[in-house]
Amino acid sequence: MNLIMFGPPGAGKGTQARLIQDKYHIKQLSTGDMLRGEVASGSDLGNRLKAIMDAGELVSDEIIIELIANCISEPECEKGFILDGFPRTVGQAEALDNMLQHMARKIDHVIVLEVDEDALIDRIRTRAEQTGGQRSDDNAETLKNRLKVYNDQTAPVLPYYENHGVLRHIDGMQAIEEVTALIDAILDQAQAA
Ligand code: ADP
Repeated sequence: MNLIMFGPPGAGKGTQARLIQDKYHIKQLSTGDMLRGEVASGSDLGNRLKAIMDAGELVSDEIIIELIANCISEPECEKGFILDGFPRTVGQAEALDNMLQHMARKIDHVIVLEVDEDALIDRIRTRAEQTGGQRSDDNAETLKNRLKVYNDQTAPVLPYYENHGVLRHIDGMQAIEEVTALIDAILDQAQAA
């Protein structure tokens, strides 16, 4: 089973992807975590990535697509994967389809977490307080641009998947456990079918 977790910054993609990984034994692939790993390494590439992420802009499709292509061909993704933070542009979605076609695989569900913009801002403010500023992009100024970039560049990915009939909309305003239950219901039903 291959999934995409989709939604704006702060929607809960990472939280839910981790829970799905544990329950269904399919691999979570978080592009944000991978990029933060590269930044933490202090490499030249990491320094360039940090500047882009701190501005709330997107890293180039070329870099991200190569990253994902390397991951999904690994044995740990054989049973399936959960993409968290990818695809974020229509170009990334098209590249993903291309890769999957060559591997005779497909995306089964795109789980769309729907959360009001005010709630997103509150959640990210809380995350910044709780983690003591661990993520330098979790501040009010950068968040404003991340939301704009989401609306301008990432939301257009939804109509792309609409045509594929794989979109599953979830009310992401509920508590974590309730969102998990809604996702479980979709995945269990699909597995039983
Ligand atoms: P969030 O979903 O909370 O915005 P992420 O951890 O998914 O956080 O992403 C953090 C940052 O990493 C993004 O703002 C962007 O700069 C970069 N990034 C992550 N995934 C991608 C992607 N697929 N394409 C381009 N940039 C990405």
